[in-house]
Amino acid sequence: MKKYENLYINGEWVPAHGEKKIEVVNPANEEAFAVVTSASSEDVERAVAAAKEAFKTFSQTTLAERIELLERILKIYERRRQEFSDALTEELGAPKTLSEGAQTWLGIGHIQATIDALKSMTLEEKKGNSTIVREPAGVAALITPWNWPINQVFTKTASALAAGCTMILKPSQVTPIDSFLFTEILDEAGVPAGVFNLVTGDGVVIGRQLSLHPDVDVVSFTGSTRAGREISRDAAETIKVVHLELGGKSPNIILDDADLEKAVSTGVTICYSNAGQSCSVATRMLVPRSKLAEVNEIAKRTAEAFVVGDPTKDETTMGPLVNARQFKSVQGYIQTGIEEGGELLTGGVGRPEGLAKGFYTKPTIFTNVDPKSTIAQEEIFGPVLVIIPFDSEEEAIEIANDSIYGLAAVVQSADKDRAIKVASKIRSGHVYINHYTDDYVSVPFGGWKQSGTGYEHDEWGIRGFQLVKAVLGTAV
Ligand code: NAD
Repeated sequence: MKKYENLYINGEWVPAHGEKKIEVVNPANEEAFAVVTSASSEDVERAVAAAKEAFKTFSQTTLAERIELLERILKIYERRRQEFSDALTEELGAPKTLSEGAQTWLGIGHIQATIDALKSMTLEEKKGNSTIVREPAGVAALITPWNWPINQVFTKTASALAAGCTMILKPSQVTPIDSFLFTEILDEAGVPAGVFNLVTGDGVVIGRQLSLHPDVDVVSFTGSTRAGREISRDAAETIKVVHLELGGKSPNIILDDADLEKAVSTGVTICYSNAGQSCSVATRMLVPRSKLAEVNEIAKRTAEAFVVGDPTKDETTMGPLVNARQFKSVQGYIQTGIEEGGELLTGGVGRPEGLAKGFYTKPTIFTNVDPKSTIAQEEIFGPVLVIIPFDSEEEAIEIANDSIYGLAAVVQSADKDRAIKVASKIRSGHVYINHYTDDYVSVPFGGWKQSGTGYEHDEWGIRGFQLVKAVLGTAV
């Protein structure tokens, strides 16, 4: 059993003093392989104090110095990337192809995009006789989820460092291992003492202490809408800057002129990436009613081609869900879908055949689903796709927007202009035309409605950690 008993505070690895020991379980075999000692409330106090003190000097560093720091971090990460892949496969159950691919590539993508943004960023602009200045916002608490841990930890940390903020990272207690590795990298890269601090523990205790703390100026949170509401309430006590990247139930509108084979098979494949545990993938497939039979055939065939199993094997395309809780929740939704009368096209409750151990779930599709039903409205966060038929483009837009969420959407059509016109009517933070994703790290990422507030990635991420100061009378 690996033991993680230290925290990183004020540039040093120091013992964690919390009483709670958190087991990290490998979801592929349901066995604990590591134990993490939680921070105590005094540990959190020390981390915040260190960040507050370090802010005095780090906030004064130049953009060139921060670029150099990020370049050093990137270099070390590139050298150690494989360790992150291995950790992700063990703690999250991400198949090797995913952890060696997109999951860890995003670390590189985010740091590089942040460096590029810093190189062209100006911190001052003139207006009349005044100067408008962007300054670092202060001490930031970075609270992250388990599903794409590198994606969130790297984008938040890179943006905060680029802005000149100091920070305390509280990673998910479910997948903390890659954050320990990440901290080693920052230490090796020479991040000044107190600028970056790592604390561990439960959200409702340690995370909460950070969002309530009077010396924390910014809370950057990614996770569930439930926790986002709690954090907003806690942070309101001291009027902090709060960014929330929350849940989603994104629509994939396939218009009648789309290349059906490509649109449906890509839609299913992306929905199932990371075993469906991805906030912004489209989990509601909206299709013309006249094409439903054809869509069903393509979707079923694509789902059934998934190889569910041991994430360390090359041929595996879907690993287990992250833990027992997630497994139970997803099984519950599949059962609800059946009880509410959705037509089960493939999958269903229970583990796939031959997989008695591990939190494996059958790739599942419900078709001809009522857009008002539970499985069409709630975020399931597992490999469960719902197919909803529509009779007109207007109805498709209406169904797409009939959600408390507004994180992402996909619009597919052979006519790009038509797709862009539909995209303009969708209430969400980003829309993928025909599943185009190449610019992901360099365009703003943020949810509308109950999917969140604020934006991440590239220059938008950095701006989230800056405040604006107007200095009047600079030219007279
Ligand atoms: P979660 O909300 O349970 O936990 C996320 C983090 O918040 C963890 O570190 C947790 O310890 C902490 N936390 C929980 N309650 C807290 C509280 N009251 N105060 C402070 N901290 C608290 O989410 P999860 O289960 O780890 O992640 C899955 C959720 O995250 C899904 O809903 C998914 O859609 C969402 N998500 C959103 C995005 C996005 O960018 N919009 C990205 C990834 C995941």
